[in-house]
Amino acid sequence: MQKQITEANFRLLLDSLLFKGQRVVGPRRSGGTVLYEPLASASDLVTDELPRRSVKEAFFPVCEDLLEYRKEGQQVALSDVTAERFPETVLIGVRPCDAAAVPVLDAVFSWDYKDQFFLERRARTTIIGLACTSSDDACFCSAVGLSPADPKGADLMLTPLVGGGFLVESQSEKGEAFLETWRDRFAEPDGTQTQALATPATQPFDLKRIKAWLDDHFEDAAWDSIATRCVGCGACAFVCPACHCFDIVDEGSEKGGKRRKFWDACGFWKFTHHASGHNPRDLQPKRYRNRIMHKFKYYDDKFGQTLCTGCGRCIRVCPVGIDIAGVLEEIQEKG
Ligand code: SF4
Ligand code: SF4
Repeated sequence: MQKQITEANFRLLLDSLLFKGQRVVGPRRSGGTVLYEPLASASDLVTDELPRRSVKEAFFPVCEDLLEYRKEGQQVALSDVTAERFPETVLIGVRPCDAAAVPVLDAVFSWDYKDQFFLERRARTTIIGLACTSSDDACFCSAVGLSPADPKGADLMLTPLVGGGFLVESQSEKGEAFLETWRDRFAEPDGTQTQALATPATQPFDLKRIKAWLDDHFEDAAWDSIATRCVGCGACAFVCPACHCFDIVDEGSEKGGKRRKFWDACGFWKFTHHASGHNPRDLQPKRYRNRIMHKFKYYDDKFGQTLCTGCGRCIRVCPVGIDIAGVLEEIQEKG
């Protein structure tokens, strides 16, 4: 279903949602940075900047409690988490490179083990995407099969109209239900043109060719030249909308404490550090190799999709200037 909405009605809609007590999360300026955070009013929403961190945190927080335990005599009592921890949420202004990563994460969090934490949040969230009309040198969504207006992962997709307002297209039952609930705010499309979309400069990658080279080059001198300078800070994984490795630890004492799940990153030297002391990825190039292999070979082998949406965040944050698009170009030339 297609509708359109004026800028004024869009802001009124946001304020109406908030007035009703709906949790609304969207790009918001926080200090000097734009992040996906709960909005307090429509004026908080930032629509012209890609948030510094990705939207995955809405479903997969940096750190969360799984349970509490305490020793009672010879027994151990467990307190489970409750559904109140997963409020109904409208995620708004989600960029296509972020929204597209959500179904990619669905695959792994509903595979052999159903992750109730992730899946409950997914079930209770409506994603309203926003097409991009500008990009920077790091953006390369269109090189990995997406586009600045790709609706993948969105329940509703907004595309800015010339002169203001948005074309609104539903992509799912949740999107249809949202349009129906707030039908007074929307109008039928009147033929107004959408604004010109962003044009990321990177040419489309031949992902099959890249994967074919990866299939045959687990051991290759290229990994040293590509990644010797990686300092293993993990920033690339933490800002990535698709990276999803985590660890689980018990924090507390034998009398009581919490079991917690928190993000991990394959760039960290302890990521595959065995209890024996052996580390099969003992050098940084082996860790970076895993990052590329996971994204462009292993995930494809397992789930038939690439674990990268071309958001460019890892390029922007890498302290030593490692550019994943450049790495892919290099591999493609070898393939
Ligand atoms: S690997 Fe880099 S460019 Fe690709 S989705 Fe992750 S952060 Fe974005
Ligand atoms: S951000 Fe750069 S230096 Fe840090 S782990 Fe990633 S590739 Fe290595």
